[in-house]
Amino acid sequence: MALRLLVLGPPGAGKGTQALRIARDHGVPKISTGDMLRDAVTSGSPLGALVKETVAKGQLVSDDVIVELVRVRLEEDDAQHGFVLDGFPRTVAQAKALDVLLAGTPLAVVEIRVPDEELVRRVRGRRICERCGTTVSAFDGDPALAQECKTCGGRLVQRSDDSETVVRDRLKVYWRETQPMIGFYENRPTFRRVDGSVAPVDVYAAIAAAVAAVSAER
Ligand code: AMP
Repeated sequence: MALRLLVLGPPGAGKGTQALRIARDHGVPKISTGDMLRDAVTSGSPLGALVKETVAKGQLVSDDVIVELVRVRLEEDDAQHGFVLDGFPRTVAQAKALDVLLAGTPLAVVEIRVPDEELVRRVRGRRICERCGTTVSAFDGDPALAQECKTCGGRLVQRSDDSETVVRDRLKVYWRETQPMIGFYENRPTFRRVDGSVAPVDVYAAIAAAVAAVSAER
């Protein structure tokens, strides 16, 4: 059955990594609004110019802009048989708009929970490949990892919005704007919460089990 999944959670919860893996396993695209916005900023497109400052400060881009970005992306061919959304929705208004876009198509929703101090530690230590966008933990034990991407050999850098000050602001934004959005989903039978503070492989197993349980119920 087609997988339509939302992976929700704060910055540093492991959404991107887990969303990518589960999307690959199901042969569907991982759609990350954060990646799309960063690409727009890098390419210097009109969208990039519009959102650059907001993304740099860790604030939320306006709902209208984001919903339109997602609407267009979900119309692409590769998303017709499923997708995993990472970083969207982030507000109740976005969640409501997504319901309208999906017009009743079943949706699995997984929230990854991790304590705040662990999130700050993780995000400060994370690096992103300049070339292919892969995210790694700079503290994975191998100092070479902090320099070079294992996937493509590109240079690993810190995202400008991963500095400690911006991360703390992003967490405030998360608790203020995004956590209430979880309430929009949590009473649905297709909602599951998983513990994101355990090893990534165990988080993955929990998400896979949640997705299987939700699919079996439908
Ligand atoms: P992420 O990579 O998901 O942490 O997103 C990076 C930044 O992009 C966020 O801090 C926001 O500035 C912006 N962004 C990404 N997704 C959204 C969204 N759904 N709504 C508003 N802003 C977003």
